[in-house]
Amino acid sequence: MARLAFSRLCFPRYHNTFNPAPSLRISFSTSRLAQNSLQQPRRCPKCSIILPTALPACPNCHYISQLDNIPSYHKLFQLPFEPNPFVVDTSKLKRRYLEAQKICHPDTWATHGTESHKIAEGLSHHIGSAWTTLKDPLPRAEYILKLQGIEIAEEDQLEDLEFISEIMQVREELENATPSEVPKIADKNHDEILKMCKDIEKFVGERDWEKAKAATIRLKYLDGIKRAANEWRPDLRQ
Ligand SMILES: [Zn+2]
Repeated sequence: MARLAFSRLCFPRYHNTFNPAPSLRISFSTSRLAQNSLQQPRRCPKCSIILPTALPACPNCHYISQLDNIPSYHKLFQLPFEPNPFVVDTSKLKRRYLEAQKICHPDTWATHGTESHKIAEGLSHHIGSAWTTLKDPLPRAEYILKLQGIEIAEEDQLEDLEFISEIMQVREELENATPSEVPKIADKNHDEILKMCKDIEKFVGERDWEKAKAATIRLKYLDGIKRAANEWRPDLRQ
């Protein structure tokens, strides 16, 4: 099989969730140093109330400020990075995301001056990136690896031929499936995704980054099948 076709099948292009606004870009080494600068509770420097989120935005007196340092996405939502950053309480994450987004939404600041509005846009963008990165296992795993200086490129392929052949087999099954067979394939793939997430959790917990990377690449293949199953339509059958 042509390499291009293989790459296209298994590595569909992902929306780049880790894309901070230009003004918020910062090196990871600096962001790690900044983690201690957002300890809670943090008071508003203008009216002294305890701020409801880890962000420098006060709904009481409408004080808003750019972040001095960019906190890790976990820190931004006051979620623990230790002992295992892959383990995220997603209901807590959602609650904190909605809370932060409500306070920093640019619309809320539209009547509080151009500068405040611009700062709110930057904070809101950062909150959005943090949310889309942490809420799903694949971008979360990629983010954690990236914090270790490990990136997954499209050229990164597994040497596990048995796994790759299983993936290709499921792809083929999906291409030839009837409408009633697609949910069964998707369910089976979902179970595989859960198993792979358990592996990633274990390897991240052990700080075994090479194994965590290999498991994340596997998850990427499985995620490709999930997307293909979601997008499956009878008229797309070959
Ligand atoms: Zn205030």
